Amino acid sequence: MTAIDVARARAETRGCEERNHLNHAGASLMPVPVMDTLLDYLRSEERIGGYETADRYRDLLENFYDASARLLGCQRDEVAFIENATRAWDMAFYAMDLGPGDRILTSIAEYGSNVIAYLHRAKRTGVEVEFVPDDADGQLDVAALERMIDDRVKLIAVTHIPTANGLINPAAAIGRVARGASVPFLLDACQSVGQMPVDVSELGCDMLSATGRKFLRGPRGTGLLYVRRAWIERLDPPMLDQHAAVLIDKDTYQVRADARRFENWECNFPGKAALGRAIDYAHHWGLKAIRDRVFALADRLRAGLSGIPGVQVMDRGPHKCGIVTFQIDGTEPAAVKQSLAAKGINVSASDASGNRVLFDRLGVAGVVRASVHYCTSEDEVDQAVREVHKLAAA
Ligand SMILES: *Cc1c(COP(=O)(O)O)cnc(C)c1O
Repeated sequence: MTAIDVARARAETRGCEERNHLNHAGASLMPVPVMDTLLDYLRSEERIGGYETADRYRDLLENFYDASARLLGCQRDEVAFIENATRAWDMAFYAMDLGPGDRILTSIAEYGSNVIAYLHRAKRTGVEVEFVPDDADGQLDVAALERMIDDRVKLIAVTHIPTANGLINPAAAIGRVARGASVPFLLDACQSVGQMPVDVSELGCDMLSATGRKFLRGPRGTGLLYVRRAWIERLDPPMLDQHAAVLIDKDTYQVRADARRFENWECNFPGKAALGRAIDYAHHWGLKAIRDRVFALADRLRAGLSGIPGVQVMDRGPHKCGIVTFQIDGTEPAAVKQSLAAKGINVSASDASGNRVLFDRLGVAGVVRASVHYCTSEDEVDQAVREVHKLAAA
């Protein structure tokens, strides 16, 4: 396996000239080929018209499905293009037939919007939501999950990598439990897709959501949904239009047999073309090579931060990813973010909203999140450590 050519990756990322961007988990920097695809597409719409551009770029638009299938190890007809990961996840979740007495098992690290959707449906339908405890290392306790299974469990829905912690949940082991119990498994892979290999067969998930703008380095306002072939026709989308279904006569419609039943007809066409290009670009580096570099850079950052008096690294679990979260004693995360921004370093301050259950468990109100990617340099990591050291000493 070849290592990443970092100089080239940086040369193809204009944003690297401007800032020390450690916010790839928020929104990464689009590389030149992705930005060019987006701009070419938009310029064509300006010149020849939107429908005419869709005809001209048909192959590029269709490439989104092939690129996604290759990325996730699935078939192209198992993928839908959706405007963001939350809506992609919703389209699968709200399509599931869940009623009074049914149980949903989910993770402590669950994304805030997902928890709101569970509670929303619990209120409407009487479905029950239960959080599987974490083990001593901080990842979802797979043995506890196994003990919680009974024939009322109708869905296992888990966040692979939380939005504000370095944790990687053991998705493949969770998938084996789900398979064994014949319970569908919905994986929020928003933070994992693009920073590491994510193969739906290896993980055993039946549905998966991901976003374009984070580690895939695509444009904002793009996302995707994977649904396993066997589940597509068992899921009744919460909304249908004349792309998702065909109107046969005044009394009859037929829903598409592929995953595009979860799509809208009108969508972000330039974004779809550019996200396909972004996925191709990730393939060109290789997801294993990306993971190795991202994880090594994050380890370097964690090691540097751990050595600073007054700084606590908050990441949990035996396996950690490219997201590094920390606190400086006595300094609000928002103030840390602002001070680092003044030095040209982009990080984000995460409050509990996206991580309510996890943060309540940890007893924290917020953390600073620094997230690296393969185009991050070792020097940038070291600069961030130096600046945090100065802030902690101040
Ligand atoms: C960002 C994020 C989402 C939401 O993605 P959007 O594209 O903003 O809808 C969902 N889950 C996790 C874990 C995330 O980090």
